Amino acid sequence: MSARILVVDDMDVNLRLLEARLNAEYYEVALARSGAEALAICASQAVDLVLLDVMMPNMDGYEVCRRLKRDPRTRHLPIVLITALNSPADRVTGLEAGADDFLTKPVRDLQLFSRVRSLTRLKLLTDELRVRAETTASLVSSNDLLLDLAGAGLGGKIFVVEDTLGMALRIGKLLRDEQEVGELPRGEAFLRSPDAESADLFVIDLAAETYDPLRLCSKIRSSDTLRQIPILLIADSADEMRVAKAMELGANDYLLTPIDRNELRARVRTQVKRRRYDESLRRSLRRTIELAVTDPLTGLSNRRFLETHLPKLIERAENDQRPLAVLIADIDHFKRINDGFGHDVGDAVLRQFAARVNEGLRASDLACRFGGEEFVVLMPDADERVARGVAERIRASTSDTLFQVGAEQHQVTVSVGYAVLRAGDDADSVLKRADRALYEAKRNGRNRIMTLAA
Ligand code: GH3
Ligand code: MG
Ligand code: MG
Repeated sequence: MSARILVVDDMDVNLRLLEARLNAEYYEVALARSGAEALAICASQAVDLVLLDVMMPNMDGYEVCRRLKRDPRTRHLPIVLITALNSPADRVTGLEAGADDFLTKPVRDLQLFSRVRSLTRLKLLTDELRVRAETTASLVSSNDLLLDLAGAGLGGKIFVVEDTLGMALRIGKLLRDEQEVGELPRGEAFLRSPDAESADLFVIDLAAETYDPLRLCSKIRSSDTLRQIPILLIADSADEMRVAKAMELGANDYLLTPIDRNELRARVRTQVKRRRYDESLRRSLRRTIELAVTDPLTGLSNRRFLETHLPKLIERAENDQRPLAVLIADIDHFKRINDGFGHDVGDAVLRQFAARVNEGLRASDLACRFGGEEFVVLMPDADERVARGVAERIRASTSDTLFQVGAEQHQVTVSVGYAVLRAGDDADSVLKRADRALYEAKRNGRNRIMTLAA
């Protein structure tokens, strides 16, 4: 997995050194000699990560960082600040400017590559989600995403996992006034706790002795329900090798002991913010998927959904040796409604018809708009008798009650063809049989239901 990294530094020798090291690991590298140049590159080129020197003339790294995080086009770019000093106060300034991480000069390989790897991996994942979310945002004109991003990363649900109660208590005390700190069973037992799923962040003590913290990280990342939840490590500076390993396994950030209160609070806020952003992306992605498989006029599933769903139902019916039936309902002389009363009246009739079809169905049945004025119902577990009952109900509920549109009432009828699954059928063949039955119903005078004799 390669990524494009922008290195920003006012000193040419620093640029060249970092460029050579990143190139050796097959990263693509872009260089900027000032904050202004960095902003211009981020605005006009694809960048996956920014390595940003803090001390620069004119515009320092904090200011570049603030500007990138303020601009909706670049706020998702991960930024790593490179500081000459290792003072907690500088780190806090950086985190408050929106930086995702820090490196301290001289930058060692282990530090450099563990952070570059974990941040670029996250960036590539969220890029995919973001593209889809932006499509949805323009489809449903929602600003949820931006609202979520403006959040301050407060009020998150934080769980501290460790093996002596002391550190959980201490961390709880340091965070209490801005986060909700929960307790979970110790070690790996917590993976089975139902509370774990509701977490916004796990804090894991790398010095734990009653369980293996690295194994815990890897188990969280492979759990279906917990894999998206960020992990913050607490580690001793002598333990850097294991920090690197844990970051490789998917931990998101680490904090060295002794814990600095401000750094802890800032790092936790950053992770909570990121978690909220991920969740809003995921929500919006779900909405995109819903839109893509829903017919906008009737709210029923559309043909695309039917075409992916029916083969699965057929496979299940065959495996379980259960029956399956499909029906196609086509409104009679629908053109006359359009021609006589206008397209809007036609649309209203289609909506009411869809509602009548849907009304009597069991939860496992699925009604779809197949095209124009044709509807398909998929009926798992339905044999010939049940399918005939559903078809007849749709026919009768259409013809027996007039359709009310505005002040006027319209007599509407429908013809229905249905078919039950036979050995050797696929989606195409069973639908075709229902369609041929429908054609027979039309030919025999409409307002009736038909199936083909076996
Ligand atoms: P038959 O009894 O043989 O089914 O006759 P019909 O008039 O219902 O069938 P035909 O297929 O000739 O005409 C269907 C019409 O449905 C033509 C098309 O303009 C109309 N139609 C398709 N989609 C829509 C829609 O979304 N809204 C409206 N108002 N009309 C639609
Ligand atoms: Mg028709
Ligand atoms: Mg038709």
